[in-house]
Amino acid sequence: MIINKPYIETREDQTYLISKIKDEVSNIEEDVFFAVPNEYGNYLCDEVADAFVVAMLLPALVSKQDIYINAPISEILFYQIENNLTYTLSKVFEKKPIKIIPKSTITLNFNPTAVATGFSGGIDSFTTVLQHTQDVTDNLILTNLTLFNVGSYGNDYKKTQVTFAEDIKRAKSISNIFGLPLLTIDSNFNLFYNNREEKIFNFSPRSTMCLIAGVLSLQKFFKYYFISSTGTIEDIKLSKHDQYYYEWLVTSFLSNNNSQIIIANSDLNRVEKTKYIADNKIVKNNLYVCAADIYNEKHYTQYKKDTSPNCSECIKCLRTLITLDLLGKIEHYSNRFDLEKYRKHKDSIFINVLANYKKDHFLKEIHDLMIETNYQIPKKYKIKASLFKLRNRLARIQLIRVIYRFIFRNK
Ligand SMILES: [Zn+2]
Repeated sequence: MIINKPYIETREDQTYLISKIKDEVSNIEEDVFFAVPNEYGNYLCDEVADAFVVAMLLPALVSKQDIYINAPISEILFYQIENNLTYTLSKVFEKKPIKIIPKSTITLNFNPTAVATGFSGGIDSFTTVLQHTQDVTDNLILTNLTLFNVGSYGNDYKKTQVTFAEDIKRAKSISNIFGLPLLTIDSNFNLFYNNREEKIFNFSPRSTMCLIAGVLSLQKFFKYYFISSTGTIEDIKLSKHDQYYYEWLVTSFLSNNNSQIIIANSDLNRVEKTKYIADNKIVKNNLYVCAADIYNEKHYTQYKKDTSPNCSECIKCLRTLITLDLLGKIEHYSNRFDLEKYRKHKDSIFINVLANYKKDHFLKEIHDLMIETNYQIPKKYKIKASLFKLRNRLARIQLIRVIYRFIFRNK
């Protein structure tokens, strides 16, 4: 794989940091860009290829290509990638480590000053924003909110533009309330993640690295960049299914002397975060946790957001609703969720928690909350959950029988 020297170009109201990248296996050659509104254009970093290297590491690793860089790369980043990151990723994705061959290494001091975090409007990002606007020391108080199009909206750049624009509108209205300017970064590098055969086709197995690529494109701007934790630190493990499991390692390996990338709130699980933010007025009026669009696109569900901003049917909505319900705060959120819909599904949601909490850490947190709040579990829930577990057990036995018969017949 070849990454060419980045350069900067202004087109209408956006400024682009561009590098021509060639994938020598798929033979794709494209101008890959990170684009920001013109007022942030001066902060784009074309002196080093750091952002592009981080964006291309996984596509290169899974297609077994070394990366040749016709530009300098930050010295400490090169050291970390060579010594720690490619080895870690090779273990995660069961591939051989690759080599990075830069034109040179360099240490530049841009003295950035911004303190920022991404803002989606969900439980994790609200927790990080509330903490870093009131409960931290002065130097760590947020100066900006951000929204990146670096993979979470899908790999097809054109298709990402509709949802990204909608999310920008929502994030802008909240950034105005907090008085924190919203910085957007748009990128097309996900075109190199289009191989459905590979785990990295999906966003979760590479989410942290994609965000960091965005941060490093603007390392003249970001001094501290907080990424909201998805879980708590005891979840740490190398997993190819979701990069959050080892996000603490990735952020440590990919920080440099300009931009330090930090995982926020890794001491709070989702229920504890919900408790932390649930009484805040801005949260009550703006909480958005819904993943209906993603589920409808990737899993062909038909969740509807016609009666409230959050669909109140997808698993992310339901987990939030049951938590708010157990905390006695659900009525405060009647303008964000369709509570009628929730009440219709309520029995099955509680039964799902009882039947599956040992297999799912998010459900386990909710089960713990049931105990903590002294929730009196109705008998019908207990019976149905037991029947549900029994049915699953029988289905597994049936499956083993079928497999056994199949093997026996083929001998
Ligand atoms: Zn939803």
